[in-house]
Amino acid sequence: MHAPVVVLGGGPGGYAAAFLAADEGLEVVLVEAESRLGGTCLLRGCIPSKALLHVAKVISETHELTEEWGVSFNTPAIDVDKVRARKEKVIETLSGGLGQLAKRRNVKIVRARGRFENSTTLVLEGDDPSIPEGGKLTFDYCVIATGSVPAMPPSFQIGSSRVMDSTGALALQDIPKKLLVIGGGYIGLEMGTVYASLGSEVSVVEMTEGLLPGADRDLVKPLHNRLKKILDNRIYLNTKVGSIAEVDNQIEVAFEGPGKFGHERFDRVLVSVGRRPVTQGLGLENTLAKVNQRGFVVCDNQQRTEDPHLFAIGDVAGDPMLAHKASHEAKVAIEVILGRPAYFDKAAIPAVVFTDPEIAWAGLTDDQAKKENRKVDIEVYPWAASGRAQALGRTEGFTKWLIDPETHRVLGCGIVGPGAGELISEAVLAIEMGCEVRDLTESIHPHPTLSETLMNAGEVHFGTATEIYKPKKHSGS
Ligand SMILES: Cc1cc2nc3c(=O)[nH]c(=O)nc-3n(C[C@H](O)[C@H](O)[C@H](O)COP(=O)(O)OP(=O)(O)OC[C@H]3O[C@@H](n4cnc5c(N)ncnc54)[C@H](O)[C@@H]3O)c2cc1C
Repeated sequence: MHAPVVVLGGGPGGYAAAFLAADEGLEVVLVEAESRLGGTCLLRGCIPSKALLHVAKVISETHELTEEWGVSFNTPAIDVDKVRARKEKVIETLSGGLGQLAKRRNVKIVRARGRFENSTTLVLEGDDPSIPEGGKLTFDYCVIATGSVPAMPPSFQIGSSRVMDSTGALALQDIPKKLLVIGGGYIGLEMGTVYASLGSEVSVVEMTEGLLPGADRDLVKPLHNRLKKILDNRIYLNTKVGSIAEVDNQIEVAFEGPGKFGHERFDRVLVSVGRRPVTQGLGLENTLAKVNQRGFVVCDNQQRTEDPHLFAIGDVAGDPMLAHKASHEAKVAIEVILGRPAYFDKAAIPAVVFTDPEIAWAGLTDDQAKKENRKVDIEVYPWAASGRAQALGRTEGFTKWLIDPETHRVLGCGIVGPGAGELISEAVLAIEMGCEVRDLTESIHPHPTLSETLMNAGEVHFGTATEIYKPKKHSGS
């Protein structure tokens, strides 16, 4: 079997690449080891986690109404089998849709595990009848989109089903009475939020001095404060887990740190300490492609590896490991294969933490500006001044812009508060278009919405935000 373009891996990087190649008239074969398309994002990542986070949000909103707004609900009765089934239905619908779309585009799907025999040949393993006789698939170009898997340090591999990675946590086998989340990154906090709202007593342990180590500290603070309340202070920072062991149907955890010291038992433990790219066993050593020290396939800003026949996209091609980065890189790779002058040179790749409150940022961050010794004006609009945030009873959030003091161009944006993940898109567009802050303040935003805070934070730059008083720093002209 030969195809001009082969895509290895059917996640948001791989299927986006295969579909675009087909839309552009290329003959394409998509090789995916699993029975369903969708990859990590759809089957055990973005989508199932957001389906469960929706349940968590509804439950927490009913608590708020009860506590503050004089509307009472009975304690929610949670049927975990139904919650799980609903999440599976969402996955099934979307994955089935991808299968249909592949068919309509004439993308040939081969269910097999692929390994490179050389720079233009994949050996396919599996029992799918679509695997060609001899198990070999040759190509002119292959786009490697094999993604990533959860990292599980050897000391946590104790052979107990009570120790889960993110995939295990999303399976939602039960609602443990006591759950420990090891790792205060976005996956741990999102899953911790889900389990806490379903009734688990959740604790979080993080080795560094703060939650979400990659995000600006000011953005994390409102989330930290809210989580502290919800988790009854069970957030242990600067603290390492020394060892874990299964004892009497529980996991005994040894904590080593100022945040917590000593032993405690939990019903389940979620290990969310990072992800590693899938390059092992791919046979890359039989090609000219190189893998760096962290295991990512080395590629340039056209997604080309060091092997002229091979491209790499998505999680396997480097940070940030995000679905929208994967699908954008997919477009670049296919355009380059088509001979077009495409490059991945984005000023803003948005990042969203879907906790409550949500945190979102794009473009330059405070931390990055400090590291690069870059002079920026930072303008913050507190949501306490937003009518919409007051109406929602969620005034802890804020919107901030990082602005170039010379050109007045917006370079970065950070938002914390409910719906921040939806709001950040306006900032992405503004940063990519090289907008000046005036472009934002001169664009009428609908009232009363949280999106107004993007305009208002721009007005802070000129000292003209109607609902707060801040003396003028810059002339409005
Ligand atoms: C719990 C969780 C929540 C997440 N939430 C978000 C979110 O909200 N937003 C976001 O942007 N990102 C999120 N992510 C990250 C996101 O899932 C990944 O960035 C994204 O899936 C990467 O896409 P990809 O196509 O590079 O790889 P993947 O989605 O990992 O897909 C790779 C595919 O390749 C297949 N494969 C691997 N090796 C082979 C082989 N040798 N032969 C054939 N097939 C192979 C795999 O079976 C898999 O289907 C989340 C991840 C997790 C775990």
